[in-house]
Amino acid sequence: MKHLSIKLRITLWYTMLMLLILLLVLGVLVTISETIIQDTAENVLVSVVDFNAEEVDYEDGVIEIDDDDFDYFKDGVTSLVYTSDFVLASGEPPRGFQQVPTFLDEQIQRVTASGEQYLVYDHRVTFKKDPELWVRGILPMSAISGVSQSISRLALFTLPFLVVLAAVGGYGITKRAFQPVRILGETVASITEGKDLSRRVEMEPGRDEIHTLAQTFNDMLCRLEQSFEAEKQFVSDVSHELRTPVSVILAQCEFALSQQPSGEAGEALQVIERQADRMNRLIVHLMTITRLGQANFRAELEEVDLSECTLALCEDHALLIPAGMELVCDIPSGLRARVDLPLYTRLLQNLLQNAFKYAQNRVEVSLGAKGGMVSLRVGDDGIGIPPEEQDRVWWRFYQANPSRTAEESGSMGLGLPIVRQIALLHHGEVTLESAPGQGSVFTFTFPQG
Ligand code: ADP
Repeated sequence: MKHLSIKLRITLWYTMLMLLILLLVLGVLVTISETIIQDTAENVLVSVVDFNAEEVDYEDGVIEIDDDDFDYFKDGVTSLVYTSDFVLASGEPPRGFQQVPTFLDEQIQRVTASGEQYLVYDHRVTFKKDPELWVRGILPMSAISGVSQSISRLALFTLPFLVVLAAVGGYGITKRAFQPVRILGETVASITEGKDLSRRVEMEPGRDEIHTLAQTFNDMLCRLEQSFEAEKQFVSDVSHELRTPVSVILAQCEFALSQQPSGEAGEALQVIERQADRMNRLIVHLMTITRLGQANFRAELEEVDLSECTLALCEDHALLIPAGMELVCDIPSGLRARVDLPLYTRLLQNLLQNAFKYAQNRVEVSLGAKGGMVSLRVGDDGIGIPPEEQDRVWWRFYQANPSRTAEESGSMGLGLPIVRQIALLHHGEVTLESAPGQGSVFTFTFPQG
């Protein structure tokens, strides 16, 4: 039951309830109608027999029946006249009713004959001089049960129709009522997916609970967006403010070191220069991240010869690679695509820097296009990333192997978050395939045009 949607659960619940109520009502209806019909039938039987009893008489010892007024068959009742010694004097019993039940004055009997039930009522007519006569009325039960049977039959045809109508109509109404919830869910999912806090849940105006929920949600998004923007602004302001003092420290270090200080003072100056340089790079990364993350920041896409650009970037990078390392490029010529070149350059540089940082001796770059999508792959034969770390490498300041990184390699855990931001700005994505000890492959896929 839990795997069913709320709409279906509600529909099922009230359909079953309705079916139950209808069956109950039908049961009560049939019982009541049978009682009423039976009462009515008994009344009809008694009144027909009593009326006919008035129309029988003796004329000089001969039974006289007023044929004009005596009804042998009226309202389903067959009337018969019997003598005092219970011999049929007039009338014909219904077909199949052969027996002659005991005569009981003014009493209704139930008799079964040939598998059918009958109501039998007797009226004894007495005279002063002549012997008594019996007027007997016989009413077959089939005449009565026919009515309740037609009620049941009618209910049997209309009931399923009503239930189906209620189920379909109810499901439609519930579906409509839940429409805003679906829109709400979809919008929230797309906001979560695209991490775009500037989006809002859009709905037709309304005042019900769901609209209030959507409004509350929009208010929450608004506040979240404001606080994120404030945080970004703060990071951006701090980064800007820090740039000047750090540049001054670096310049002063350079000057001091150019004086070739000896001993511990010289070493101290080198440590200061290294750390200031690291701080400087951190500031640049932070400024990039806040700039790319700004709500109004858009990549300036323009069509370029991507093959040429990628090859040139690889060649530039090849000049910097350490001895014993090789860079293999598989780049077909003439592949054109729409990219923001400075951002694309930054993305490739980050991936190449990482690849060379962790590779054993080989880094591969390949470029290709298929089905309107361009793929740039940067792979290495390095230490790889354990599966449980693969999601986290995209987090800011996350370093999968801090002991090896940080000081030794100048890592900060900001390169891949920038890569992902750039990929999103190109309406694309960047994926990672990696196995520890076998290397890693980062693939940037984005629309060509
Ligand atoms: P940084 O390289 O400055 O530490 P990144 O965001 O670029 O920051 O990378 C985050 C972490 O992901 C790195 O610390 C490293 O542990 C892991 N990583 C990135 N690229 C590779 C790679 N090619 N091989 C193995 N690990 C990698």
